[in-house]
Amino acid sequence: MHIPQLIERKRDGGTLTTGEIRAIIHAFATDGIPDYQMSALAMAIYFRGLDAVETATLTAAMRDSGRVFHWPTGSPPKVDKHSTGGVGDKTSLVLAPLLACDGLWVPMVSGRGLGITGGTLDKLESIPGFDVHLSEEHCLAQIERLGLFMAGQTADFCPADKKLYALRDVTGTVPSRELIIASIMSKKLAESLDRLVLDVKFGTGAFMKTREDAQKLAFGLQSAGQENNVITRFLLTPMAEPLGETVGNALEVKEAVDTLQGKGPADFVNLTLDLCERVADSPRERLAGWLQDGTAWKKFTAMVSAQGGDATALERLTKIHRAPLIKSFAATHDGIINRLDAGTIGAASVRLGAGRQRASDAVDCAVGFSGIRKCGEQIAKGEPLFFIHARTEAALELARHDVAAAVSISR
Ligand code: URA
Repeated sequence: MHIPQLIERKRDGGTLTTGEIRAIIHAFATDGIPDYQMSALAMAIYFRGLDAVETATLTAAMRDSGRVFHWPTGSPPKVDKHSTGGVGDKTSLVLAPLLACDGLWVPMVSGRGLGITGGTLDKLESIPGFDVHLSEEHCLAQIERLGLFMAGQTADFCPADKKLYALRDVTGTVPSRELIIASIMSKKLAESLDRLVLDVKFGTGAFMKTREDAQKLAFGLQSAGQENNVITRFLLTPMAEPLGETVGNALEVKEAVDTLQGKGPADFVNLTLDLCERVADSPRERLAGWLQDGTAWKKFTAMVSAQGGDATALERLTKIHRAPLIKSFAATHDGIINRLDAGTIGAASVRLGAGRQRASDAVDCAVGFSGIRKCGEQIAKGEPLFFIHARTEAALELARHDVAAAVSISR
């Protein structure tokens, strides 16, 4: 294999064969291709794209660069969800136990926060003792017993993606649609799923800003899944305002706890059920019933205990992680809320410390926003639009300044 020739072919708009793509990824993952050549190829792909077969092949090759889960024959269908990321998106915390209640297996390998979008692992780590670093043996034993686990990626899970993502991050090639598809789907395929639902978000608080771009990404993700024998469905969902009423790690876990106890906000409950329905065996009414009758809550607490977490802490999580300053941000006049911009609130939550500015940063579990009102609601002058949870006076003032532009109330 002569790498410069393959780079040139892609640069000039040609097609790479299945054998070539598999050989490139194998060589790259085993340090057989230098970073400068892989970066050049990523840039050629950025400009020239990949066709559906090339994309599916790249996805499968990245999946096969590491270990994949092997499930016992005759085990229940394996299902999962992937969200392209949003502000206040704690859906996984409720969806996974609900699907496990349905008798399905949910082998959920999640990520950390990226930019303004939160990450499931960061949220889960606000539960005292909760361990996201599970061995394959632990994952298998837990899923056999409870039907779910929620864990982080191990070093031998899609290593080619890890290496390529790090290169893309510093070579201007993150936004390549085909590279995004292969990156996301290789990790989902490594879970050896039968069914996958994708929540592809669009709006100021999402990776994709327009519905059209989200739809193109969704079709590409779906095609890579279907080509690799996973039933793949998607929803395109708006991310113009935060999902639910909270943004921030412990605050969002507490909101998920309330939802698992049948007290969740309507937009969050509806989205979770919309997604579950796409991969569940049971109808929506039965899934909704498990949020009301304690079944889903019991499943979640069992998972928390199985992963070393203190389930008795769940209902007091926002007391355990209580920010020193909790102040309201009040409406300046009576009217209808017509804008609570997710992108601005997401960026402000990162600045408060709920997300990372650099990959090496630690996240602050306690800070963020709560009691966030919804667009379309009537509000009176002086009523809180939301509460800001901050570590210091300076951070509080910065957040107040940041979010002022996020809000608009019609007169
Ligand atoms: N998330 C991923 O896992 N990979 C990408 O390339 C983009 C988002």
